[in-house]
Order: sequence, then structure tokens, then C-alpha cells
Amino acid sequence: MLELKNVTKDYKTGDTMFHAVNDVSLTFNKGEFVAILGPSGCGKTTTLNIIGGLDRYTVGDLLINHTSTKEFKEKDWDAYRNNSVGFVFQSYNLINHLSVLDNVELGLTLSGVGLAERKRKAIEVLTRVGLESQLYKRPNKLSGGEKQRVAIARALVNDPDVILADEPTGALDSKTAHEILSLIKEIGKDKLVIMVTHARVYAEEYSTRIVELLDGEVQSDTTFEENTVNAEREYKPRKTAMSFLTALKLSFNNLRTKKLRTIITALASSVGIIGVGLVLAISNGFSKEIDSIERNQLVGLPILIGREEMQIGFDQAGGTTFVPSDYEDDEIVVYDPADLVHRNLFTPEFIAHLELLDDNVYSSIHYEYGYVPVILSDISGDAEVVDLQTVGFSSFIVPDDQISDFYSLQAGAYPTNKYEVVLIVDEWNVIETDVMDALGFDTSTTIHVDDVIGEYLYLGMNDDFYIEQFGFFIPNFNALDDVVDNGVRVTIVGVIQANDNALEFGGLGIKYLYSLKDELLQENSNSSICQIQEGQTSSVFDTSELTDTEKEMLMSFIGCNTTEPFLIQIFTDSVENKTAIKEHIALYNENQDVESMIYETDLAEAIGDTLGTLITSISVVLSAFASISLIVSSIMIGVIIYISVLERTKEIGIIRSLGGRRKDISRVFNAESVIIGAFAGLLGITITFLLTFPINAVASSFDESLSTVAQVNVIHLVLLVLASTVLTFIGGLIPSRIASKKNPVDALRVD
Ligand code: ADP
Ligand code: MG
Repeated sequence: MLELKNVTKDYKTGDTMFHAVNDVSLTFNKGEFVAILGPSGCGKTTTLNIIGGLDRYTVGDLLINHTSTKEFKEKDWDAYRNNSVGFVFQSYNLINHLSVLDNVELGLTLSGVGLAERKRKAIEVLTRVGLESQLYKRPNKLSGGEKQRVAIARALVNDPDVILADEPTGALDSKTAHEILSLIKEIGKDKLVIMVTHARVYAEEYSTRIVELLDGEVQSDTTFEENTVNAEREYKPRKTAMSFLTALKLSFNNLRTKKLRTIITALASSVGIIGVGLVLAISNGFSKEIDSIERNQLVGLPILIGREEMQIGFDQAGGTTFVPSDYEDDEIVVYDPADLVHRNLFTPEFIAHLELLDDNVYSSIHYEYGYVPVILSDISGDAEVVDLQTVGFSSFIVPDDQISDFYSLQAGAYPTNKYEVVLIVDEWNVIETDVMDALGFDTSTTIHVDDVIGEYLYLGMNDDFYIEQFGFFIPNFNALDDVVDNGVRVTIVGVIQANDNALEFGGLGIKYLYSLKDELLQENSNSSICQIQEGQTSSVFDTSELTDTEKEMLMSFIGCNTTEPFLIQIFTDSVENKTAIKEHIALYNENQDVESMIYETDLAEAIGDTLGTLITSISVVLSAFASISLIVSSIMIGVIIYISVLERTKEIGIIRSLGGRRKDISRVFNAESVIIGAFAGLLGITITFLLTFPINAVASSFDESLSTVAQVNVIHLVLLVLASTVLTFIGGLIPSRIASKKNPVDALRVD
């Protein structure tokens, strides 16, 4: 069933070729127990390795069941070794970091036998060699004879046709040697056993045939016991394949035997992970902080839709946002900023669309028409016009029913209707002298809150305040008392302070409810000054000619414009609602051409975005620096794996002798680097997480609001472990390739 046909194996030593095996022709049959005898160096091992497919002949052929092996590919040899051959070596060649059971199972694992089946078969053969009580021991805890029994069990477990034993008793005392030889003879009854030995007594006692070699040539071939077995099986090997899980197990067990080194390696390569991890954690913390500022502090900033909208962003210092596309080096490029401005057209159609906005997503919409009301006071006893700027006359931006959430009452009451206004002072009740002067209080004496509450202000009506004289209008300064009497009277009902969460545009002074201005506008837009101004192109005040824009501004100023706002402010209370509002505007834009589209500004978002971009760029740069150590550590892993390859050379030989493919070998080492990489990653993220606590503690001692400046993001952590695994895997690729290229015969010879 096995036939060596004129096999020669040449080795080149220096310049001279030399035949380790020289023109050997031998035929072996099932049932034979062949002893190959000869002095050391005569070529016995080489012959056996050629028969077992571990080594290749230089010239000749090996026939397996009459099939030539000349065209055999690497994978055919792997399959042959795995299915048909069982090796037993003088030095046992067991893998010390695997249990007895796992060692025996390895051959089955390589041919893809399932777990339960594997275990059953392995226990069966181990029982047969008398080791059923030592299944979970490590081989180095066993005696020489026991080790050889494990090796025999391993050779037997795949039920091969051929058992090849290379001086199996060479390291054993004679009593144990006899036991082992009897065992080999017993298990080899219906197989072909070829045993190399240099002890003639053993050969004569146990074998059925002795082949003597000398200097690589057959000296004699004597059969002294007739072969009774004559069954020939067809040669149909199953291909081998090791699963990555098996590779992981092998490498994991191996790493367990060098825990300290593994931990130190992982620790060293986790430094890069920690670096990147901390940068990400801090940028994550900042982003969350910005997000929370946007959500909590800036959410009160309305969505602004002005007549003119421009993209908000950082300018190059002192520069413009305009980048010319094509210009000469010596050319001064001129541009008009107005070109970059989009003019929003507040058509009735758009206003109507805006009014359709879901009540639940906004708290109020304010239309600003540019109207500057006439305010009068008679607190001092004389009616006088009060300068609107000076008294900070502005409307609340929070909804009427939420004023108490943003302001605290110092005296009096919150306004409950549009005829009630309040005075805002700062947290120490301070307000500018000018404001109180303008309101008509005597600032040379102490003013108490009670002096303020209950006082009146008046909003003058156009028809009373502007009187026509000689063809143009002048303010009716001579009869301000009448203006006061006919004006809309508002009462100062309270003194309030703004809380931290209030967004103050107007600053300190008089605050009124938005609905007040609305009423004034409705009244004043029908005034005669408005009607007259509407009908002429010259100013009603000094008869000078006005451009269209000037006329519009003038009319807006005196309250004649109630249809075309300058600015629309939409107030809401959450980022989600802002999104809904923007979507509503986008819906309008869908049906518009570019000119009539409406662009809005979300200041809060713009501020958040700008800060966010800044944080992102900073963290990208810092991560890049930290990544350098990631690269360094993957090179280090490459070196470590290479050392491991050197240490595990024997194991490489064993796996190859059991039929493991080159691919399986590289898998074993890839598995090792994957384990180290994943471990380093896990270690790195754990340390990163733990470091966030002291970092936050230190940061918050500088600034209270930085107490969560470092915050890990689970997705980042998972990605970091992946990155560490992938990088170390790449680092280990070259050494694991080197491992897979190792010659199995050489690998086995290493001690
Ligand atoms: P045996 O097993 O009979 O002691 P071997 O088969 O191991 O002998 O070796 C036969 C001869 O081939 C020896 O002289 C040995 O030095 C030589 N040899 C074996 N392997 C190699 C090799 N890889 N390179 C060069 N010479 C080798
Ligand atoms: Mg030898």
C-alpha cells in the first residue's frame, strides 16, 4: 500500500551535494511491523519523514495505494498526514500548554471533527493506552512512558492506516520500552507500523520485518513473519482545516503560560489607546457641555428670520468671508458684502404659512416692524416725552405665563395684562441714574420700590402727538398733557430681577408684554400721518424727497407698517421644537424658487456649531499625536509575536505533523496577536475610564462647570478595542507568515 520507488533525498552542505537517502525502493503493506535499523546518520529519520509526507523526496516517487504523489500539492500532503499517518517521536513532541486530552484531540480538531465526537474518540484511545485517569493533566507532569502513551494515543485517534515511530523508546528505560513496544504492536495489528530504531533486540522481538540502512542505502530487507492482513483501502483523504476558535484556544493557553509578559506587553501597547481614549473622552465631555449649553442656556434665543440673512461663521481675522475664485496676483479684488446677503421676502403667503405652525412647537412669534412708540411720563408732575432707548423699553421674550420662571419678583406683581409693565433692576437692585431720571424720578433722593409701583407711563397716539402745521407734521410739544390724557396708559406693577437663565436683550429698564406693541400698531397704522405719508414720496416731517427705502423706514418708525416685518422672532423651549420650526420653514421653501426662499438663523445652533467644530479640530490633532503611540505599539507586538514564533517552533512542527496547513499555523499566531490586541484594548479603555475620575476631580477644582469634562462614549470605547485588535493583528502578520513558512522537519528538530 505504500511504495518508495527509487527515492533519493539530497542535502546540500556547502558546495557538495550529498544523498541522505540514496535510491531506496521499498514496498510496505498493511499488517506489517517494519523495523528500520541502522547506525546514527544513515538516513532512517529522513526515510520515515518522506514516507510520512513530512519531508519531500528529491528524486523518485512515493506511491500511496498505487497513487503517485509526484503531483501532490501542499494541501494533499497535509490531508495525507492528518488522515492516514500517525507519528510517534522519540521526544514525544507534545504541546505542554495543552492538556493530555487536548493534545490527543488536536489531530481531530484539524480535520474538523465536532467537539463531542472529538472528546469521545480521544477518551477512547487514551483509555486504550491506559491513561483514562490522566486526561486533564499537562504533559510535563507525566513520566516518559506516559508521555509516549499520549503520543501513541494521538497517533491513533484519527484511525490512520500507517503508524510511523521514530525511535519511540529511545528515551525510555528498558521495562517501559517493552511496555511501549507491546502497545505499539497491539494497536498496530491491522495497520502498517514502521518503526525506526537502532536497537536490534527490540527490532527482532517485535517486528515482522527488518530493513537495514547504511549511508542512505538499503543493506538488507528480511521478512520473518508472514503478513496475514491483506485488506487494501482506497486512498481518499479528507482535507484538513483548523477553525479560528481552535487557534484562539491554542494561543490563549500558550499566553496563560507567560502571563507576566503578556500583561506587560498589553500594558505597553495600551498606552496609545489610553491617549486616544482620553482625548476622545474630553472632546466628548466638551461636546456634551456645548450641547447642554445649547439646550439649556441658549435655547431661549429665538430663531431669527430677518429681512436680510447672512451665513454666520468665523472670519479670517480682519478679512472677509468672500474667497475670490479667479484673480491676478496684483489685482485688488472688490466685492460687495451685500452680494452674499439673501433677502427674505416676507410675503403674505409666507406669513400665512408661518401662522400654520403647530402651536405646540413654539411659545410665541414676534413680528418686529421697526416701530418706535412715543412714551410719555408725568411722574415728575410735568408731562414729558421719555427716550425709549434710555428707559430700555422692550418686550418680554418669554411667553407671558412663563415670566416667573425667568425673573424673580422684588416688589409688586408680575404683569398680567398688556397694560401692566415692570421695572427690571439687577441683582443688587441697581439701575442707571439716567433710566430713573428719564422716567421722571428725582434721583437726588432715595427711591423706594413703593415709589415706582403704581406709577403710570403713557404711549402716545400718532393723531395726538403729530400735528400738521404749514404742510408738514411736528410733535405736539405744546400740548403733551393732551397726548398723555389720550394715550394708552400702562402701570408699573412690579420690580423684578432677571434669573441666570433669562436671556436679556434689553438690559435693565421697563419691560412690557409683546401684545402691547401689537395694539399700538393697530391703532396708529390708521393715523392721518400714516395715510398722508403713504400717499407722498416726500417726508411728512420736512418735505424732503425720500427714496423708497427711506420712506419705508420712516413709515415703520412711526408705526404705519403692520404688514412687512423687519424681523420675525420665533421663541420656543427645546432644540427639538427648533428643528420642527426649521422643518416647517423648509416645507415652505420646497415650493419656492431661490429668490423667494426664506433663510433663518438659529443663533444657539450657530454658536454651538462653531464651538463644536473647534473642539473637533482640536481633538483630531491631539488624537493624531496619540495615534503615533498606537503605531509604535503595533510594531512592538510584531516583535513580541516574532519572539513567540521562535519559542513555539516545536509546536509549529507538531501541528504540521498532525496535518495542520500553513494557513493553520499563521492562524495560531494571528490568534495570539488578536488576543494581545483585544486585551490591550480592554485594558486601555478600562484605564481610560478610571482616569476620567481624577481628571474631572482636578478640572472641577479649577472650574465647577468642568466636573464632567472627561466623559467616555461607549461607541468610542468599542471602536478603540477594535482599533487595538486590528492594529496588533496587522503588527503580527509578518511574524505569523514567517511561522507558516517554517519547514516542519526543521521545526520538529528544534528543542
Ligand atoms: P538517522 O535518523 O538515521 O540518524 P537522518 O535521517 O536524521 O539520520 O540524517 C541522515 C543524514 O542527513 C545525516 O548525515 C544528517 O546529518 C543529514 N541531514 C539530515 N537533515 C539534514 C538537513 N536538513 N540538512 C543537511 N543535512 C541533513
Ligand atoms: Mg534519526
